[in-house]
Amino acid sequence: MKKEKKLECNRREFIRCVGFGAGLFTLGKLDWAEAALLPQAKRKEKYDVVVVGTGLAGMAAAVAAQEKGARVCLLEKLPEGQDGGNSRLAGGFIAITKDKSQGAKEEYVKDFMKKSMGKGNLALTKILADQSLEAVDWLKGLGLEFTDPVTVAGYNVKNVIFKPGPYQGMPKGLATLKSIFIQKGGKIFFATKAKQLILNDAGTVAGVRAQDAQGLKDFQAKAVILATGGYSANKEMLEMFVDPNADDMMVRGLKVLTGDGHLMAREAGAMWVNMGGMVSLHVAAVSPKNTAAGNPFMAIAYTVGINKEGNRYIDESLGYVANGKAAMRQPGQTVAMIFDENIKKQPGVTAAVQQFTRLGIEIVEAESLAELAAKIDVPSANLEKTISEFNANVANGAAPGAKPPKSAFAFKIETPKFYAFYPLVPGITITFGGIKINEHAQALEPDGKVIPGLYAAGECAGGLFYEDYIGGASLANCLVMGRIAGYHAALAKKTKS
Ligand SMILES: Cc1cc2nc3c(=O)[nH]c(=O)nc-3n(C[C@H](O)[C@H](O)[C@H](O)COP(=O)(O)OP(=O)(O)OC[C@H]3O[C@@H](n4cnc5c(N)ncnc54)[C@H](O)[C@@H]3O)c2cc1C
Repeated sequence: MKKEKKLECNRREFIRCVGFGAGLFTLGKLDWAEAALLPQAKRKEKYDVVVVGTGLAGMAAAVAAQEKGARVCLLEKLPEGQDGGNSRLAGGFIAITKDKSQGAKEEYVKDFMKKSMGKGNLALTKILADQSLEAVDWLKGLGLEFTDPVTVAGYNVKNVIFKPGPYQGMPKGLATLKSIFIQKGGKIFFATKAKQLILNDAGTVAGVRAQDAQGLKDFQAKAVILATGGYSANKEMLEMFVDPNADDMMVRGLKVLTGDGHLMAREAGAMWVNMGGMVSLHVAAVSPKNTAAGNPFMAIAYTVGINKEGNRYIDESLGYVANGKAAMRQPGQTVAMIFDENIKKQPGVTAAVQQFTRLGIEIVEAESLAELAAKIDVPSANLEKTISEFNANVANGAAPGAKPPKSAFAFKIETPKFYAFYPLVPGITITFGGIKINEHAQALEPDGKVIPGLYAAGECAGGLFYEDYIGGASLANCLVMGRIAGYHAALAKKTKS
């Protein structure tokens, strides 16, 4: 049952408070008064570039800025060993163009724009199309390893995955970047939470006021790069911008990603884009036993989604995000993705089964649909009716007459054994809205003016995604825009000194 929630501060008040109040906010909690009292820090350090966040966007930015000769430090609010953000938990899929030709780049843009219903930022999308392969080559040159490109079902975009493969490669890739950064003289301050941006008299961002175990400390810099990730763990922001009940969903990633960079940038006058409504979230139906990696996304298109009443509820071929959002609207917010012995042989399904097995998450199996229904707790007669109607409509790889229709990847469910990924529940993967940036990753004010000295990259920057994304697109964004932010922030150092 939907519960009514009364918000203590509406959106307009929120933006007024956060954007134009004199430091009236604290991070992770919308408690306006406390941060206004942030005293000046007694301890200070000076760098060319300060990067906040050690996920892929932050690490790419930090290493890129170093390459251009900048003295760089990284701030990470979590202790050492817990760094890496949601990037560390990620599947490790990166969306690339199939080659460097103009045609491949145009196809990439087309795929992205289709997924965002034409509402993604075209200029940023073109940059990704232009630089995704080059940025992966850059990482290869630094010693990181990737699998051969794999096809994204139904799209021209390809994915490479950090080696050795899904979910196992990201920690390794991030560790390599970290050691390169440290070897080149970079400093990482762990358990150090950025609390506020420091602005000088000219209105230029001149550093970050942060808090560690000893109290406040100022990190002065000629440029600051925010790479603080999303706000999926900030209940107030979810309630205000997405849905009064959005905070009821599970969070697939870290429970500490509270939109700190969004809030700090807003306070410095930056604009936010693509915030608002379910279109601003990436949701996947995942196993509650492992919300991060228990995601059978490679299999979804081939399966049949069944809700607690034994009914289908979506065109499964639309992919795992559409399925995740639809799962949120099903009774008990719990669904099963069903397949049979033949469908199990499809490479995407085989890979998802292997993934679940590796994680120790049981896949429900049965000799008959009636037995499967009992095991997944749905009315048996209704499940059998639903499957028989679906089967009757399958022809030439689609089921246009089924209710709801399935437009591709349709196979009859008829060959025992029968299987189900069950239970699956909706979990937030990514928040799409964030700081508005230009093609150099510079943060922008609502009138389009650049905020001097302030850059944002990765999930804390908004505009690229709306409603859905192509698998691998977020890490591609972190890598490409993080690298660009690093290069340009280092340039800011040169032009100003
Ligand atoms: C389970 C899962 C699987 C995913 N798989 C994929 C995938 O395969 N491909 C894909 O494209 N996308 C994937 N995504 C999405 C993708 O992982 C994220 O969008 C991306 O990693 C975000 O990277 P980032 O560098 O912007 O932020 P993060 O990696 O989240 O890093 C942000 C860092 O900033 C730190 N931080 C935050 N606030 C502060 C502060 N105030 N002071 C100091 N430090 C701070 C955080 O502690 C964190 O370490 C997945 C997401 C999840 C949850």
